[in-house]
This record gives sequence, structure tokens and C-alpha cells, in this order.
Amino acid sequence: MSLAVVACPNCGLAVTRKNGRDRQGRQFHQCLGCCRRFTALTATPFSGYRFPPDIIAIAVRWYLRYRLSYADVAELLAERGCVGYFGYPRSAWCCRVVCAGRCGR
Ligand SMILES: [Zn+2]
Repeated sequence: MSLAVVACPNCGLAVTRKNGRDRQGRQFHQCLGCCRRFTALTATPFSGYRFPPDIIAIAVRWYLRYRLSYADVAELLAERGCVGYFGYPRSAWCCRVVCAGRCGR
């Protein structure tokens, strides 16, 4: 068992151990206090999405800052090799990244 110094987002205890990886290869940690598993993205607006945070952030920025359509953002991402990134979850991304879910969507 390898112990790691990563604070648990649930209880704040900094005694955790590495506990596998998720489907995207991100390290899972397990808290030795409350036994919950988490990744570095848990409790962030990017939690639960399979897309990397930098891709989500840039897609939301382009969409909001330059008032591009969803299709325009999808095309720009596709030109950079991110095919299919700005499909269904677009409104959820904008909502969670920009207003942290306060709008209720
Ligand atoms: Zn904990």
C-alpha cells in the first residue's frame, strides 16, 4: 500500500492511498478516514466529465467570449483534433464552469 499526501475533498484528511485509475487514466485516491474514492478533479467544476479540464475551459471561453455557435466551437475543436468534444454536454459545461450550477441547469 502506498500512502499519498492528497487531501480528501470530503473530510479534509490528508492520509490517502492510491487506488487505481479511472477510464481516462486519472489517479484514484482513497481516503483512509472516510474511505471515499476521489481524483484530483473531484469537487471541481470539471468533476464527472471525461474531457480534460483545459479542453472544457477553452471551449466554454470560445463559446462565451466570442459568441460562437456550438457548431463553430465544435469545428474549431475538431481542427485541433478534439472530434465530438462540444456535443451534448455543452450547456452543462458552461453552466458548471461559469456559474457553478447556480442557474439550476
Ligand atoms: Zn475522507
